[in-house]
Amino acid sequence: MIGDLEHYRGLVEKCSHCALCEAVCPVYLEDMLETHVARARVDIIYQTLYKKSMPVTPRVREIIDRCLLCTSCTQDCGGAVPVHEIIITARAALYGGRRRNPLRDYFTRTMMAKRGIKGFPAFMLAAAQKLHVAPEGFPHVSLRTFDSLYHGSYPPTGKKRAKVAYFTGCATNTMDVETGVAVMKVLGHNGIEVVIPDKLMCCGIPALGEGDITTAQKMVRNNVAILAEQEVDAIIVDCTSCGMMLRSETAKLLPADDPLLAKAVALSPKVFEVTDYLNTIGLAVEPGPLAESFTYHVPCHRGWTPTLNEAPLQLLASIPGLRYSAMEEPEKCCGAGGAFFMDYSDLSRGIRKRKLDDITGTGVAVLISQCPGCRSDLSAGLGKGWKTAHPVTLLRRAYGL
Ligand code: SF4
Ligand code: SF4
Repeated sequence: MIGDLEHYRGLVEKCSHCALCEAVCPVYLEDMLETHVARARVDIIYQTLYKKSMPVTPRVREIIDRCLLCTSCTQDCGGAVPVHEIIITARAALYGGRRRNPLRDYFTRTMMAKRGIKGFPAFMLAAAQKLHVAPEGFPHVSLRTFDSLYHGSYPPTGKKRAKVAYFTGCATNTMDVETGVAVMKVLGHNGIEVVIPDKLMCCGIPALGEGDITTAQKMVRNNVAILAEQEVDAIIVDCTSCGMMLRSETAKLLPADDPLLAKAVALSPKVFEVTDYLNTIGLAVEPGPLAESFTYHVPCHRGWTPTLNEAPLQLLASIPGLRYSAMEEPEKCCGAGGAFFMDYSDLSRGIRKRKLDDITGTGVAVLISQCPGCRSDLSAGLGKGWKTAHPVTLLRRAYGL
């Protein structure tokens, strides 16, 4: 179970120090400090928290904190060492769920339980953004939330082909409502009935990143209990981090004797990112033309579904006139990493700079990605003249919905 140090002892010892992870760690590739490569982080965790041969100094904490939890090292590790889970577990052991400050705790525990920034905090943040005193790259909040627009069941137009539950993440719910509306319209147009379950919480990933296992468990238990009740063919997400949580991390957060564990395991294969799902079952209606060009940033949290990388490209290829211009390295991290862009802004900006150069080198002005965090941070870096969007919004426009 994530958060249980003993559970990870054998996995920590599996690291062979082969250094394959050096080639993929965005932090190491930016600051070139050997102590920030996954193998060094794992070794330092082993020496301090398992063997206790080293004290936990502020520098040790920094090495454990200065990680984007991008999962690139885990995905590429030949020894199957789940590095990001080990780092989360180390944070849980070091901080006991109180890694930052009371404001961050309030954000990850209370606001996320209500699925995003709403009401008075949303109003204050919107005002701060208008006055340009909010952190750069922080997503713009919408005072009209997705869950105030949609709840209950929505029959498709035309012949019904499938029924899905839509897990709307906190970002879509309160910051990127446009994506949520596009998901509803495009699924409905393609013969898919969509259910919006009531009382869902955040997927738990912000709490998990803080090492706050108790809060993450509370959220996933709530979500598993609700989603397991839905009689649907699939559970759809538009955010790849929500998808990773639901598909591959939720069950790892529940102890072996948890009555919800079997339900979490059964739900896992039903979780799909929306373009991946549409690409799998195929479009029922041909889209109309769209005379535009776009480039595609593949989110780091993609390891949970191998078809995710290609799904939007294959799906959007059915739009006449729409052209794809590839980056040199579409899978390279953007440097946002949840709240990492605020905690280590200089480092984050350095990582983002490489990405921005790659994006602007494509010569187009539309960037698609399935991660709302990447879109928001990259949009701030790209500035005016660029449109960043979820791929499903291009389909919505091609359908004229
Ligand atoms: S790739 Fe895996 S086994 Fe090799 S050094 Fe990195 S974490 Fe260890
Ligand atoms: S999760 Fe990402 S940032 Fe953290 S050590 Fe692994 S590759 Fe580096």
